[in-house]
Amino acid sequence: MKHKLLLATRNKGKVIEFQRILEAIAPGEIELISLDSFPDLGDVEETGSTFEENALLKARQMSKATGLPAIADDSGLCIDALDGAPGIFSARWSGEHGNDHANNEKVLEQLKDHHADQRGAHFTCVAALALPDGRTHTEEGLFDGQILNSPMGENGFGYDPIFKPAGFEISSAQMSPEEKDSLSHRGKALRAIAPHAIELLNSLR
Ligand code: IMP
Repeated sequence: MKHKLLLATRNKGKVIEFQRILEAIAPGEIELISLDSFPDLGDVEETGSTFEENALLKARQMSKATGLPAIADDSGLCIDALDGAPGIFSARWSGEHGNDHANNEKVLEQLKDHHADQRGAHFTCVAALALPDGRTHTEEGLFDGQILNSPMGENGFGYDPIFKPAGFEISSAQMSPEEKDSLSHRGKALRAIAPHAIELLNSLR
């Protein structure tokens, strides 16, 4: 029997990445239930001060509300020259939640006087699993690179068009989904949490 696991996010870009990555790690073992099955559930307020706190908040609250094991992530872009900002505020850096274009423009403006060697950045992702009985597990993944001078590419979401992964001459929005998964913060965090998720889900049987 497949394990039911709730994906605690309404971000469509993330849903697609979660499904692709978890299915590649544990083919056929997990039936991912999306939040579309729970249209009345309100959004979880991200009141934590770290990626880990926010990921746990989302996974715990969604598990509690649905009675299902839930997996969530919290992620963002940390820019060296901005002391790690936008960090946990990545989705709403320009003031308007989820306006990727405005967020990218703000970052480019903030870094406009910074040369290539001062444009270091990384994405961070913490994946959190919460079971209805209160047990939790978290894993972190990092993706190193630098901020470009202007956007390039159409794939991905968020800051992908202005992020150049270390060792590449293209942006993460110019990578194929599979190539990005193999390098990305979310890919790393999900690949790290997947075996723990299977073990914890098996313990519920
Ligand atoms: P969250 O939904 O609170 O985790 O916010 C994540 C935000 O960080 C997104 O809205 C994006 O702006 C940014 N972000 C996280 N992961 C990625 C990625 O893989 N590519 C581009 N932007 C990302």
